[in-house]
Amino acid sequence: MANGLHFRTTRAEINRAALQHNAGIIRGLAGAASVLGVVKADAYGHGMISAAQAIAGQVDAFAVAFLDEALVLRSAGFNQPIVLLEGCFSAAELPICAHHNLQPVVHEQSQLDAILTSRLIHPLAVWLKVDTGMHRLGWAPDQVRRVYKELNASPQVGSVTLMSHYANSGDNAHPLNQQQEQQFYDLTAETRLTDHLSLANSAALVSASRDYEQFDRHWVRTGITLYGISPNPDQPVSSELKPVMRLVAPVIALRDISAGECVGYGSCWVAERDSLIATLAIGYADGYPRHCPNGTPVFINGQRAPLAGRVSMDMITVDVTDLGQVKVGDEAELWGPELSVHEIARHAGTISYELVTRVSARVPRVEI
Ligand SMILES: *Cc1c(COP(=O)(O)O)cnc(C)c1O
Repeated sequence: MANGLHFRTTRAEINRAALQHNAGIIRGLAGAASVLGVVKADAYGHGMISAAQAIAGQVDAFAVAFLDEALVLRSAGFNQPIVLLEGCFSAAELPICAHHNLQPVVHEQSQLDAILTSRLIHPLAVWLKVDTGMHRLGWAPDQVRRVYKELNASPQVGSVTLMSHYANSGDNAHPLNQQQEQQFYDLTAETRLTDHLSLANSAALVSASRDYEQFDRHWVRTGITLYGISPNPDQPVSSELKPVMRLVAPVIALRDISAGECVGYGSCWVAERDSLIATLAIGYADGYPRHCPNGTPVFINGQRAPLAGRVSMDMITVDVTDLGQVKVGDEAELWGPELSVHEIARHAGTISYELVTRVSARVPRVEI
């Protein structure tokens, strides 16, 4: 695989034009806001370098989770600002951040201490994270004024951007959204940080009921929408997004079985009629979820066919009795433009984010 030679045709096709189309839609929605293209977790499983190349002209900066991911971008020659969404795990990372012009989030006292006691070659642009109600990362609102003062007074610090994260951005009606916004805007008034703000992720940006001007002069942090996956399938803008990933696997065997016979491990699918079973070269080791039950759709030759039997490590089995004309070598779509990743996620009892980020390293990403 390392040399790019693949005999198995199982692959994740990555549609570069779709990625650029989605980035364009985000740009339009963002209006006067700046766009942070979130490419953490290998661009949500789409391949970080090629995704970053595709959207580099359309975003104002990149965001990743941690330093190691940022260094992959720097090694590939990207020189845009990069935000580290979890900040630094140790003081040793700070000189590297300064050297590579990386912008760490500061969400915790040990991170603040490390910055205040460092001696850096350049002051760092940092992102001060406030916990407005998600209760995962960030300073309590009553600590923010003190932390901001300390950062602002430090010669190690250049600019400070105030950020927070919605706990329910996918649910417009959730009462916590407004409470979080209230907390956040109270703090911007207190710190007088009105130009360096960041609150919205994808779901908050595409939310039809939000007042987009609210985010003017903000940084909007968009990940999932870039990849053409709507954070909330019910939003109108979602239909304009184009799926970027198409997960494909070939049929490698076909067999007729009689009514009453079983398929797969545990014999958990029993044929109710004489059936034609196709075996496809993709399994849970490729990131196809083992939790997908019988009946999960697979798109073959222009039609949907139901999964029949347990997902194995390298293979799945599909009931193609009603399809006709399926042959060895035919290719199936597991998710993509014809089969929404949301639908497969629902069958697997998870969300689209998990499915795309877990397509494993042995599945080549093929740009189309
Ligand atoms: C990953 C991440 C995002 C991107 O979220 P999407 O829902 O993919 O747009 C935004 N903000 C933070 C803090 C994140 O960790």
